[in-house]
Amino acid sequence: MPFPISEATPIRFPGPPPRVCDVVIIGGGVVGVMSAWFLAERGLKVALCEKGRIAGEQSSRNWGWIRQQGRDPGELPIMMEARRIWENLAQEFGDALGFQRTGVLYLANKEKDIAGFEEWMVHARAHGLDTRQLSAAEVRALLPGTAIDWPGGLFTASDARAEPWVAVPTLVNGAVARGVTVVENCAVRALDRAGGKVVGVITEQGRIACDQVVLAGGAWSSLFARAEGVTFPQLAVLASVAATEPMPEVYPGAAVDGDFAFRRRMDGGYTLAPGAEHDFFIGPDAFRAFRFYLPVLKNDWRSTTFRPSAPKGFPDAWSTARRWSADAPSPFEAMRVLNPKPNMATIGRVQDAFAKAYPALGRPKLKAVWAGMIDTMPDVVPVIDRVAAIPGLTIATGMSGHGFGIGPGIGRVVADLVAGNTVGHDLSRFRLSRFSDGSKIVPGPAL
Ligand SMILES: Cc1cc2nc3c(=O)[nH]c(=O)nc-3n(C[C@H](O)[C@H](O)[C@H](O)COP(=O)(O)OP(=O)(O)OC[C@H]3O[C@@H](n4cnc5c(N)ncnc54)[C@H](O)[C@@H]3O)c2cc1C
Repeated sequence: MPFPISEATPIRFPGPPPRVCDVVIIGGGVVGVMSAWFLAERGLKVALCEKGRIAGEQSSRNWGWIRQQGRDPGELPIMMEARRIWENLAQEFGDALGFQRTGVLYLANKEKDIAGFEEWMVHARAHGLDTRQLSAAEVRALLPGTAIDWPGGLFTASDARAEPWVAVPTLVNGAVARGVTVVENCAVRALDRAGGKVVGVITEQGRIACDQVVLAGGAWSSLFARAEGVTFPQLAVLASVAATEPMPEVYPGAAVDGDFAFRRRMDGGYTLAPGAEHDFFIGPDAFRAFRFYLPVLKNDWRSTTFRPSAPKGFPDAWSTARRWSADAPSPFEAMRVLNPKPNMATIGRVQDAFAKAYPALGRPKLKAVWAGMIDTMPDVVPVIDRVAAIPGLTIATGMSGHGFGIGPGIGRVVADLVAGNTVGHDLSRFRLSRFSDGSKIVPGPAL
């Protein structure tokens, strides 16, 4: 099975974009779509420009976990709101999102992991979350039939799952129903500014006048922002994923240990992925951002396969232009849908790990393998902020591998930030200036 969303996917929203609106959203992933949704609900005229296809990048390629568990304490209140929004969305769209409250389970491989779970329980208690620490026997009761004796676990029953390659393409219909104009194959090349302020954007389909722009470009955000003179140390890592053929249900939810992760899908298969492994392509941004990443690298370098260069056209490829003219095609049009090749050695190890845990089922047969470029930040939490240097520009990016679940909450927050309303959450952890004001980089929980 080829990956369900690609450049071959028919364009559902050909445009044209409006000539004038209140807010332009750059990027049609979960963050852009849900920001547009809530902005339109607040009565603003919104255009959403997507260079390729709605949810063609991370928002369709992820594991489908809607997870409060293990979140950075700064994100947790937004995530708890996001989970409630998901419940409402599931009511509006019925089964179409594949939303099910089946829980998220972390499995300890060693005693040290259990100590980490204990530390995180402090935040769960502080926020009244239903997370529980599990003994080895309780883990066994949740995962009958496994051949592995995990010494303990961490479980949040109210966590959920949804189907990535159908959820956001369905949610965009809700945004359109609320009045958003969505345009695919419509790269935004540059901001249009007058007196330093945003007065519009230049897209490949012409100029749109607006006084507010939300940059929700996922792995492309820092490339776009840098060309506008705004720098932040966002990088992208390659994460490989596989979907099994339908197989007996051994567990209805999502679970992960250090070796592998699995999540039941609506079609009766499992989505499998490595517990920690990923690949990293070295490029100019990696050098620029290196010092910011030292704290996370200390813990993470063993699970990273470093490669000397990204394939042509990737955001941090050596040959990718860093400056371009708004009158000519930009790097965004050159790569409509970022569709990296998965690391097949990693996928093979994941199949082995699943077979080791469930020997009675044999080595799982795969119906699809794919990869996504995760946009990450050195402290593993996003940037959600207005850009002081460019009035009218708001950035919502760097979801660091966990933006699918929180996306609807981020969308609500971004909408109120842009509309000038009270946001209701403390966003100081996500401020852009943390990378320039000498703040210490404090990584949040990694998964
Ligand atoms: C393998 C994998 C597993 C993951 N697992 C989970 C999980 O289980 N749970 C979870 O919560 N999160 C998970 N994530 C993370 C999650 O998928 C992302 O954090 C989230 O989808 C990010 O959404 P986004 O809207 O910010 O970016 P994206 O979905 O990447 O969307 C950004 C969009 O912007 C467009 N764009 C960029 N530049 C321009 C431009 N100049 N003009 C127009 N359009 C532009 C791109 O084409 C893209 O479609 C995972 C990610 C991956 C890759």
